[in-house]
Amino acid sequence: MLKIIDTGSDGHIHTRLCNHAVGTMEEYVLAAMDRGLHSMTFLEHLEVGIHSSPRTWLSRTDFEEYFREGNRLRARYADRITIKLGVEAGYNPHETGNLRAALRQYPWDRVGLSYHFYLVGERHCNLVSRRRENLDLLAAEGIDRVVTAYLDGLLAGLEVVQPDVVCHLDAVLRHHPDIRLGKDHLRQVDTLLAAMAERGVALEINTSGYSIRNCPFPEPGILGRAMALHIPLVAGSDAHRPEDVGRFFQRLPDYVTDAAAA
Ligand SMILES: [Zn+2]
Ligand SMILES: [Zn+2]
Repeated sequence: MLKIIDTGSDGHIHTRLCNHAVGTMEEYVLAAMDRGLHSMTFLEHLEVGIHSSPRTWLSRTDFEEYFREGNRLRARYADRITIKLGVEAGYNPHETGNLRAALRQYPWDRVGLSYHFYLVGERHCNLVSRRRENLDLLAAEGIDRVVTAYLDGLLAGLEVVQPDVVCHLDAVLRHHPDIRLGKDHLRQVDTLLAAMAERGVALEINTSGYSIRNCPFPEPGILGRAMALHIPLVAGSDAHRPEDVGRFFQRLPDYVTDAAAA
């Protein structure tokens, strides 16, 4: 029987190239082999037209190094682990043309869709940050409204980014104490999942959620609905430190089974 989720493969790994992670690419490869993974996918941050400092994504020069070093590692460890070079593309509703153009420049093994930055006035606020000033600005904007815009953005992003996988689907405002998805939001999620199923886009189960809210992204209700639509699942640690590669993956088989039964 085909496994519902492959926990021998980590589909979401960052490196120090993104400016907010630590560890070289090789240190992540060594960590993945240490964990006994048979494959790993670097999924580094690409953002287009975002005004926010410090920069938390890769520049063009960074991506050149990413592919150079990634290809070297791929060859060096070819007999021990499969290494893929992908991108976590941040959706930006105001720069869709430039985003498409940027994505066309590289031969990605996998494209992940996320939506990280939301424009409040002249300022881009990080939707998944724990920084107080970000959370306050977004809360002043209205949590419901921001969540609605976030889910709309992911839906629109399917067309613009043409992703293989949607990352941390319900991670929006993950550090805000009042975050919850209302009935209308869940209807938006259903529309999004239906569009993903139609396009064959996978859903990431992002285990960084275990550290933040003791439950991965997405929550079991959303995961169950995705599984009912036969959307493929991908495990991702969202590692920003080598020791986080494959974190909590041993919990995923039960998590998935329980979500399917609920
Ligand atoms: Zn990151
Ligand atoms: Zn992300």
